[in-house]
Amino acid sequence: MNALNRKDLLDIKSLSKDEILLICKTAKYFKDVFTRDVKTVPVLRGKTVCTLFYEPSTRTRLSFELAAKMLSANTINVPVTTSSVVKGESLIDTVRTLEAMKADYIVMRHAASLAPHFLSKNIDASVINGGDGFHAHPTQALLDTYSILEKRETLAGLHIGIIGDIKHSRVARSDLIAFQKLGAKVTLCGPPTLLPDEFKQYGVDMTYNLDELLPELDVVNMLRIQRERQKGSLFPSIREYNLLYALTEERFSKCKSDVIIMHPGPMNRGIEIDDAVADHPNSIINEQVTNGVAVRMAVFYLLAGGAPFQDEEGDISK
Ligand code: ASP
Repeated sequence: MNALNRKDLLDIKSLSKDEILLICKTAKYFKDVFTRDVKTVPVLRGKTVCTLFYEPSTRTRLSFELAAKMLSANTINVPVTTSSVVKGESLIDTVRTLEAMKADYIVMRHAASLAPHFLSKNIDASVINGGDGFHAHPTQALLDTYSILEKRETLAGLHIGIIGDIKHSRVARSDLIAFQKLGAKVTLCGPPTLLPDEFKQYGVDMTYNLDELLPELDVVNMLRIQRERQKGSLFPSIREYNLLYALTEERFSKCKSDVIIMHPGPMNRGIEIDDAVADHPNSIINEQVTNGVAVRMAVFYLLAGGAPFQDEEGDISK
């Protein structure tokens, strides 16, 4: 069917290590396309890509849209609000509309976990999960993996910390799976209320003590405090949180000199990360955004049946 053997990209756990590496290798090729002067290639000419985002997004939606445009697709952004569709019946109506529009690819973000899975079962179009509830954000995990591979030859043997509001983070849930599949050791760190026991099932290390963890890490992936998802107060105050879990300049000075600093965005500067760290040369936060476009081009290309590139040029997968 295609090199990924699937119609949809719904999560990271169903991708094998080789498939993750194939997407990263393909993304390397598309990054070259994206960063050169003539940016469009005809991979999706005549195809329609629909972005259907029931939750706010800046980077992810724009990135998918740009990726689709650079592959010469027609793009439609369906303007939806969280309040307009939350129940199954309404989603079915949306499916009918998208079918009527002859959409070939639907990129969906939804507050309900598994909403893209539901859509995928009811429509012929390829569905790409742009983030569903707390559950998964596969293209973020792919771009994070790719971004680390750009800096290091392999993830094997790296110690990666994911820090902050783990409980509400689909990025953490997807990243930890991708990083471990590629051989990294993953430690999660946050206050006890934001680091629930359910994460033990993933075979990761867990700690509440950021100061002890930081000097050990090769990669520090900071997460946003997702206040919109928190029911009730899960930590005493932002000041308290900042005191114990923010990546301040002082904490950063305890990290390895070549540590890689990441954040999926949007950042709460001054809350989970200081400006000086976010903008430091060790930070690859802006490159993550650029790489997001290349990775999403690669995902579209491979789902569309594009053949894996053979040349050494694109080989990031050693
Ligand atoms: N942009 C990421 C997401 O959609 C992370 C965040 O919102 O904090 O999950």
